[in-house]
Amino acid sequence: MKKIKVNLDKKVAYSYEICIGYDVLDRIGLLIVKNMPALHYIIITDVNVSAIYGRMLLDRLRGMSLPVDMIEIPAGENTKNVGTTIAIVERLIELGADRKSALIALGGGVVGDVTGFIASTFMRSVPYIQIPTTLMAQVDSSIGGKTAIDLPEGKNLLGTFYQPRGVFIDVKFLDTLPEEEMSSGLAEAIKYGVIDNMEAFNFLERNIEAIKERNGDVLEEMIENACRIKKGIVEIDEKELGLRRVLNFGHTIGHAIEAESNYAISHGAAVSLGMVAAARISESMHDFPHRDRERIELLLESAGLSCCIPQTITTDGIMARLKADKKKEGDRIHFVLLKKMGMPFINGGVPESVLRETVEEMKK
Ligand code: ADP
Ligand code: ZN
Repeated sequence: MKKIKVNLDKKVAYSYEICIGYDVLDRIGLLIVKNMPALHYIIITDVNVSAIYGRMLLDRLRGMSLPVDMIEIPAGENTKNVGTTIAIVERLIELGADRKSALIALGGGVVGDVTGFIASTFMRSVPYIQIPTTLMAQVDSSIGGKTAIDLPEGKNLLGTFYQPRGVFIDVKFLDTLPEEEMSSGLAEAIKYGVIDNMEAFNFLERNIEAIKERNGDVLEEMIENACRIKKGIVEIDEKELGLRRVLNFGHTIGHAIEAESNYAISHGAAVSLGMVAAARISESMHDFPHRDRERIELLLESAGLSCCIPQTITTDGIMARLKADKKKEGDRIHFVLLKKMGMPFINGGVPESVLRETVEEMKK
């Protein structure tokens, strides 16, 4: 088991450990008790994850004589809403949860986001830990303390920064993860390779086949690389005031495409398209090497991600979404672009004509 310590400003947040390995679940009870002592634990999970892992976790914790309950919610992004949040809170009250209770998020990004949000607000906050079960959550969303739920008006509109007391990642969860969810998570893993150092990117290039075959050692190293990069960024800029914005690489156009498809395109697939667009814009505006742009596209394709925007998504639709995006300033839209591999920066604005051209080209 590998341990990565996230060191945060002690005045505002707890520092905590990310544990990664195959044997994390075997020690999960001890890890929870040590990192988050509480009088009552409540596991929050979705129905799919519950069917495979819920009972096992419940039994492990009860086997240690810990008082523990479990709340199940429906699966899928549509679940991350106000209705589900209230339903969970009502169930917490029924179960007798109070300020000495603690929450355990067992699941993907949806479960993690909603559990974190409730933990930060229930009875003016209770502690929580993350046990991420999707690749997307293991390499990205479970780390860094961003919590949120969706409103009818848009995704993640209600949320907080609230750090967990620990993130416990067992690579074995990925054995049961559907192929599409794997690819979606790989998009974020590749993002870390592109924005940080060449080593992480080279590792992904060398090992993409083994990753797709779900070789445990390789997955572990890939997750560890992503977590280390993210923790380094979060430690410097917990609240996304500056540096942390580079984590939005691929997300500006990505979010626009995701929303334009009415969420038929997954977050990872949309971010993959957004990264291709950002790399192409970087090449045309900032001399990002053509060869590196091709390497990024090739790696995304080998990970099972597409580099082409479906014809059904209109350029006008994407442009309208981008203009409504909060990162816009005047008629220019701010982007995370690349000077070189591993050298992202926030550019001063991409002209609309360049954006349109890039999107059109990706539709061929
Ligand atoms: P993400 O982590 O990408 O935000 P979700 O939380 O929506 O995604 O999870 C994606 C889907 O995968 C959900 O239907 C969830 O129930 C399912 N899921 C999560 N973890 C596993 C797992 N380890 N094995 C099988 N299915 C899983
Ligand atoms: Zn993302």
